[in-house]
Amino acid sequence: MEFLEKSQRRRAGDEIGWDGLDPKDKRIIILGGGDTATDCIGTSNRLGCKSVRAFEILPTPPEKRKAENPWPEWPLIFRVDYGHEEIVAKTGQDPRTYSISTKKFLTATNSAGIKIVTGLEIVEVEWEKDEKGAWKLIEKEGTKQTVECDLCILAMGFLGPEKTIIEQLSLKTDPRSNILTPKDKYDTSVAKIFSAGDCRRGQSLVVWAIPEGRQAARQVDEYLMGKTTLAGPGGIVTAPILHKGCC
Ligand SMILES: Cc1cc2nc3c(=O)[nH]c(=O)nc-3n(C[C@H](O)[C@H](O)[C@H](O)COP(=O)(O)OP(=O)(O)OC[C@H]3O[C@@H](n4cnc5c(N)ncnc54)[C@H](O)[C@@H]3O)c2cc1C
Repeated sequence: MEFLEKSQRRRAGDEIGWDGLDPKDKRIIILGGGDTATDCIGTSNRLGCKSVRAFEILPTPPEKRKAENPWPEWPLIFRVDYGHEEIVAKTGQDPRTYSISTKKFLTATNSAGIKIVTGLEIVEVEWEKDEKGAWKLIEKEGTKQTVECDLCILAMGFLGPEKTIIEQLSLKTDPRSNILTPKDKYDTSVAKIFSAGDCRRGQSLVVWAIPEGRQAARQVDEYLMGKTTLAGPGGIVTAPILHKGCC
């Protein structure tokens, strides 16, 4: 996020430095294989990196849905997004390598006395189910190798909302560390505090953030006014919703 935010802010005209994150002429390795990694690949490429590769710890997704991933579930299949397409157009090769685990960062001290990354020690991995059916990571013997890089970007997953406000307000959270609300509601465990968006439903998409914001506003309106004329989920509500106890 630090890298993507800096690139966007610079592009928007903010006069901020790269603080060592400038991708230009660098050999870049991105750890992770999700949408954030795609954005990091695309951004590095567009800003003139020397090379960019992405290592994903999971195996290559199948071309077609597997039997255990039927419709209407989201299809877990191999996808080629804009960031990958742009690299393929330039180099003829997809930047992603699957089933790779990173063991170690290799570092050196530069002339300014700052510790810098120079490469990674990686190993190929396989996934097997143990006797209880849980997935287990197995390192493939003899596959350890080092790869050089000048910048390594971590794009390995959403860690949940920042804790500061949650702790200061003593808000209850769900098992994934998001702010807890009743199902389809936006009020939190603390009276007069509402929550909406990624911090409530977890990492998601803008198409969810928009209705979350609207529906939270509707619930706040109802809470304050006793009724609301704001649109409910799925369309326009023509008649006011009467609050319990109201005429
Ligand atoms: C790299 C990346 C790429 C993505 N690409 C896409 C995409 O292509 N399409 C898509 O649909 N979705 C994408 N998403 C997801 C999308 O950005 C989110 O689902 C959406 O922004 C969530 O909206 P939100 O309003 O809940 O939270 P945010 O957009 O994260 O807004 C929360 C705001 O609250 C501010 N904030 C945090 N703490 C405080 C505080 N204590 N006080 C005041 N303000 C605070 C933050 O600075 C931030 O501005 C992407 C996400 C990431 C990380």
